[in-house]
Amino acid sequence: MSLELISPFVIVIAAAIIVTFERLFPYEEQQKFLREGFWNDLIMYSIVQSYLLGLLINWLIQWIDASTMLSRMHLISHWPVWLQVLLFLVTHDLYIYWFHRIQHRSIRLWRIHEAHHSTKDVDWLSGSRSHSLEILINQTIEFAPIVLLGAAPEVALYKGMISAIWGMWIHSNIDVHTGKLQYVINGPEMHRWHHSDVVADGSYNFATKLAIWDWIFGTGFLPERKKPAGYGLREIEFPKNYIRQHLFAFRPLKGDVYSGE
Ligand SMILES: [Zn+2]
Ligand SMILES: [Zn+2]
Repeated sequence: MSLELISPFVIVIAAAIIVTFERLFPYEEQQKFLREGFWNDLIMYSIVQSYLLGLLINWLIQWIDASTMLSRMHLISHWPVWLQVLLFLVTHDLYIYWFHRIQHRSIRLWRIHEAHHSTKDVDWLSGSRSHSLEILINQTIEFAPIVLLGAAPEVALYKGMISAIWGMWIHSNIDVHTGKLQYVINGPEMHRWHHSDVVADGSYNFATKLAIWDWIFGTGFLPERKKPAGYGLREIEFPKNYIRQHLFAFRPLKGDVYSGE
Protein backbone atom coordinates (compact mmCIF):
# COMPACT_ATOMS: atom_id res chain seq x y z
CA MET A 1 0.00 0.00 0.00
CA SER A 2 1.40 3.39 -0.93
CA LEU A 3 2.11 6.09 1.61
CA GLU A 4 -0.39 8.31 -0.23
CA LEU A 5 -3.18 5.92 0.79
CA ILE A 6 -1.76 5.14 4.22
CA SER A 7 -1.36 8.73 5.43
CA PRO A 8 -5.11 9.62 5.66
CA PHE A 9 -5.63 6.40 7.67
CA VAL A 10 -2.78 7.30 10.02
CA ILE A 11 -4.30 10.78 10.53
CA VAL A 12 -7.77 9.32 11.25
CA ILE A 13 -6.33 6.76 13.70
CA ALA A 14 -4.31 9.51 15.44
CA ALA A 15 -7.49 11.63 15.67
CA ALA A 16 -9.38 8.69 17.22
CA ILE A 17 -6.62 8.16 19.80
CA ILE A 18 -6.49 11.88 20.69
CA VAL A 19 -10.31 12.10 20.98
CA THR A 20 -10.33 9.02 23.25
CA PHE A 21 -7.71 10.58 25.53
CA GLU A 22 -9.68 13.85 25.54
CA ARG A 23 -12.67 11.93 26.92
CA LEU A 24 -10.56 10.01 29.47
CA PHE A 25 -8.33 12.84 30.70
CA PRO A 26 -9.94 16.19 29.82
CA TYR A 27 -8.16 19.47 30.46
CA GLU A 28 -11.50 21.27 30.46
CA GLU A 29 -14.07 18.83 31.78
CA GLN A 30 -17.09 20.80 30.61
CA GLN A 31 -15.97 20.82 26.96
CA LYS A 32 -18.26 18.83 24.71
CA PHE A 33 -17.21 16.66 21.77
CA LEU A 34 -19.93 18.18 19.58
CA ARG A 35 -19.09 21.74 20.58
CA GLU A 36 -20.09 24.96 18.81
CA GLY A 37 -18.70 25.05 15.27
CA PHE A 38 -17.84 21.31 15.22
CA TRP A 39 -19.42 20.48 11.85
CA ASN A 40 -18.19 23.69 10.23
CA ASP A 41 -14.61 22.96 11.36
CA LEU A 42 -14.78 19.31 10.34
CA ILE A 43 -16.48 19.58 6.96
CA MET A 44 -15.62 23.06 5.71
CA TYR A 45 -12.11 23.53 7.10
CA SER A 46 -10.68 20.02 7.59
CA ILE A 47 -12.13 18.44 4.46
CA VAL A 48 -13.36 20.93 1.81
CA GLN A 49 -10.87 23.77 2.38
CA SER A 50 -7.92 21.41 2.90
CA TYR A 51 -8.70 19.54 -0.30
CA LEU A 52 -9.25 22.61 -2.51
CA LEU A 53 -6.24 24.48 -1.13
CA GLY A 54 -4.12 21.35 -1.60
CA LEU A 55 -4.96 21.43 -5.33
CA LEU A 56 -4.29 25.16 -5.61
CA ILE A 57 -1.00 25.06 -3.69
CA ASN A 58 0.20 22.07 -5.69
CA TRP A 59 -0.62 23.90 -8.92
CA LEU A 60 1.16 27.03 -7.70
CA ILE A 61 4.31 25.13 -6.74
CA GLN A 62 4.36 23.21 -10.03
CA TRP A 63 4.06 26.55 -11.84
CA ILE A 64 7.00 28.02 -9.86
CA ASP A 65 9.01 24.89 -10.60
CA ALA A 66 8.18 24.97 -14.31
CA SER A 67 9.31 28.61 -14.42
CA THR A 68 12.54 28.11 -12.47
CA MET A 69 13.42 24.43 -13.17
CA LEU A 70 14.85 24.37 -9.65
CA SER A 71 13.82 20.81 -8.79
CA ARG A 72 15.93 19.52 -11.70
CA MET A 73 19.06 20.60 -9.85
CA HIS A 74 18.27 17.89 -7.24
CA LEU A 75 19.96 19.92 -4.54
CA ILE A 76 19.11 17.58 -1.67
CA SER A 77 17.91 14.48 -3.55
CA HIS A 78 20.92 12.46 -2.38
CA TRP A 79 20.20 13.10 1.33
CA PRO A 80 18.57 10.31 3.35
CA VAL A 81 14.79 10.77 3.55
CA TRP A 82 14.79 11.14 7.36
CA LEU A 83 17.29 14.00 7.10
CA GLN A 84 15.20 15.72 4.42
CA VAL A 85 12.09 15.45 6.63
CA LEU A 86 14.05 16.77 9.63
CA LEU A 87 15.41 19.72 7.63
CA PHE A 88 11.94 20.85 6.54
CA LEU A 89 10.39 20.22 9.96
CA VAL A 90 12.91 22.46 11.71
CA THR A 91 13.20 25.23 9.09
CA HIS A 92 9.46 25.54 8.52
CA ASP A 93 8.84 25.50 12.25
CA LEU A 94 11.22 28.43 12.71
CA TYR A 95 9.51 30.30 9.85
CA ILE A 96 6.02 29.65 11.27
CA TYR A 97 7.11 30.86 14.72
CA TRP A 98 8.07 34.27 13.31
CA PHE A 99 5.16 34.56 10.87
CA HIS A 100 2.75 33.67 13.67
CA ARG A 101 4.37 36.17 16.02
CA ILE A 102 4.14 38.92 13.37
CA GLN A 103 0.48 38.03 12.77
CA HIS A 104 -0.20 39.01 16.36
CA ARG A 105 1.48 42.40 15.80
CA SER A 106 0.14 43.44 12.40
CA ILE A 107 -3.53 44.31 12.11
CA ARG A 108 -3.78 43.11 8.49
CA LEU A 109 -2.09 39.79 9.19
CA TRP A 110 -4.05 39.40 12.41
CA ARG A 111 -7.24 39.56 10.38
CA ILE A 112 -6.35 36.31 8.61
CA HIS A 113 -5.27 34.71 11.90
CA GLU A 114 -8.33 35.76 13.90
CA ALA A 115 -10.38 32.77 12.67
CA HIS A 116 -7.85 30.43 14.28
CA HIS A 117 -8.42 32.14 17.65
CA SER A 118 -12.18 32.26 17.34
CA THR A 119 -13.08 28.84 18.78
CA LYS A 120 -14.38 29.08 22.33
CA ASP A 121 -13.43 25.46 22.93
CA VAL A 122 -9.89 24.33 22.18
CA ASP A 123 -9.79 20.71 21.11
CA TRP A 124 -8.34 18.25 18.57
CA LEU A 125 -10.37 19.85 15.76
CA SER A 126 -10.09 23.55 16.53
CA GLY A 127 -6.60 23.88 15.05
CA SER A 128 -8.11 23.21 11.63
CA ARG A 129 -10.01 26.51 11.71
CA SER A 130 -7.67 28.82 9.82
CA HIS A 131 -8.47 31.40 7.16
CA SER A 132 -7.73 30.09 3.66
CA LEU A 133 -5.31 32.98 2.97
CA GLU A 134 -3.29 32.04 6.05
CA ILE A 135 -3.12 28.43 4.87
CA LEU A 136 -2.31 29.49 1.32
CA ILE A 137 0.70 31.52 2.52
CA ASN A 138 1.94 29.03 5.10
CA GLN A 139 1.51 25.83 3.12
CA THR A 140 3.00 27.28 -0.06
CA ILE A 141 6.04 28.27 1.99
CA GLU A 142 5.95 24.84 3.67
CA PHE A 143 5.80 22.70 0.52
CA ALA A 144 7.52 24.82 -2.17
CA PRO A 145 11.07 24.23 -0.80
CA ILE A 146 10.37 20.49 -0.57
CA VAL A 147 9.60 20.35 -4.29
CA LEU A 148 12.09 22.97 -5.46
CA LEU A 149 15.06 21.49 -3.60
CA GLY A 150 14.33 18.12 -5.18
CA ALA A 151 13.31 16.23 -2.03
CA ALA A 152 12.06 12.64 -2.31
CA PRO A 153 8.32 12.53 -3.22
CA GLU A 154 7.39 10.93 0.11
CA VAL A 155 8.90 13.83 2.11
CA ALA A 156 5.86 16.07 1.44
CA LEU A 157 3.56 13.25 2.57
CA TYR A 158 5.52 12.65 5.78
CA LYS A 159 5.63 16.38 6.45
CA GLY A 160 1.89 16.80 5.82
CA MET A 161 1.07 13.84 8.04
CA ILE A 162 3.25 15.05 10.91
CA SER A 163 1.83 18.59 10.66
CA ALA A 164 -1.78 17.34 10.71
CA ILE A 165 -1.20 15.12 13.76
CA TRP A 166 0.85 17.74 15.61
CA GLY A 167 -1.86 20.34 14.97
CA MET A 168 -4.44 18.06 16.59
CA TRP A 169 -2.09 17.31 19.48
CA ILE A 170 -1.23 20.88 20.52
CA HIS A 171 -4.90 21.91 20.49
CA SER A 172 -6.15 18.74 22.16
CA ASN A 173 -8.16 18.94 25.36
CA ILE A 174 -5.92 16.39 27.08
CA ASP A 175 -4.65 17.04 30.58
CA VAL A 176 -1.03 16.00 30.03
CA HIS A 177 1.97 16.78 32.19
CA THR A 178 5.12 16.70 30.11
CA GLY A 179 7.39 18.53 32.57
CA LYS A 180 10.74 19.65 31.21
CA LEU A 181 9.85 18.34 27.76
CA GLN A 182 7.87 21.57 27.37
CA TYR A 183 11.16 23.40 26.94
CA VAL A 184 11.75 21.42 23.75
CA ILE A 185 8.46 20.14 22.35
CA ASN A 186 5.22 22.08 22.11
CA GLY A 187 2.01 20.57 23.40
CA PRO A 188 -1.42 21.41 24.84
CA GLU A 189 -0.01 22.78 28.11
CA MET A 190 1.62 25.72 26.30
CA HIS A 191 -0.60 26.10 23.27
CA ARG A 192 -3.85 26.29 25.24
CA TRP A 193 -2.46 29.43 26.89
CA HIS A 194 -1.93 30.89 23.43
CA HIS A 195 -5.69 30.56 22.84
CA SER A 196 -6.57 32.40 26.06
CA ASP A 197 -9.18 35.12 25.60
CA VAL A 198 -7.03 37.39 27.78
CA VAL A 199 -4.81 39.42 25.46
CA ALA A 200 -1.82 39.37 27.82
CA ASP A 201 -1.84 35.55 28.00
CA GLY A 202 -2.34 35.02 24.28
CA SER A 203 0.70 37.08 23.30
CA TYR A 204 2.99 34.18 24.23
CA ASN A 205 3.70 30.66 23.02
CA PHE A 206 3.80 31.21 19.27
CA ALA A 207 5.62 27.94 18.53
CA THR A 208 3.95 25.06 16.70
CA LYS A 209 6.13 21.96 16.99
CA LEU A 210 9.27 23.01 18.81
CA ALA A 211 8.81 25.04 21.98
CA ILE A 212 12.48 25.97 21.86
CA TRP A 213 11.74 29.00 19.66
CA ASP A 214 9.56 30.51 22.39
CA TRP A 215 12.22 29.99 25.02
CA ILE A 216 15.07 31.24 22.79
CA PHE A 217 13.20 34.36 21.63
CA GLY A 218 11.64 35.20 25.00
CA THR A 219 7.97 34.38 24.41
CA GLY A 220 7.65 31.18 26.45
CA PHE A 221 4.82 31.28 29.02
CA LEU A 222 4.01 28.61 31.59
CA PRO A 223 2.38 30.23 34.61
CA GLU A 224 1.55 28.59 37.92
CA ARG A 225 -2.15 28.86 37.11
CA LYS A 226 -3.27 25.67 35.45
CA LYS A 227 -5.37 27.17 32.67
CA PRO A 228 -6.75 30.35 31.13
CA ALA A 229 -10.08 31.76 32.30
CA GLY A 230 -11.52 31.30 28.82
CA TYR A 231 -10.67 30.79 25.17
CA GLY A 232 -11.47 32.63 21.97
CA LEU A 233 -11.99 36.28 21.11
CA ARG A 234 -13.31 38.89 23.50
CA GLU A 235 -15.54 41.74 22.38
CA ILE A 236 -15.98 40.25 18.91
CA GLU A 237 -18.99 38.31 17.74
CA PHE A 238 -17.25 36.00 15.27
CA PRO A 239 -19.56 34.69 12.50
CA LYS A 240 -20.57 31.03 12.59
CA ASN A 241 -20.81 30.34 8.86
CA TYR A 242 -17.68 29.46 6.82
CA ILE A 243 -18.20 32.08 4.09
CA ARG A 244 -19.04 34.82 6.60
CA GLN A 245 -16.00 33.85 8.67
CA HIS A 246 -13.87 34.40 5.58
CA LEU A 247 -15.46 37.72 4.63
CA PHE A 248 -15.15 38.93 8.24
CA ALA A 249 -11.39 39.28 7.69
CA PHE A 250 -12.04 42.08 5.22
CA ARG A 251 -14.26 44.30 7.40
CA PRO A 252 -13.03 47.89 7.88
CA LEU A 253 -9.86 48.20 9.95
CA LYS A 254 -10.35 49.78 13.35
CA GLY A 255 -7.03 49.00 15.01
CA ASP A 256 -8.35 46.00 16.92
CA VAL A 257 -5.06 44.10 17.18
CA TYR A 258 -5.59 41.12 19.41
CA SER A 259 -2.26 40.91 21.16
CA GLY A 260 0.64 43.30 21.40
CA GLU A 261 3.94 42.72 23.12
ZN1 LIG B 1 -2.02 32.92 17.33
ZN1 LIG C 1 -3.70 27.22 17.76
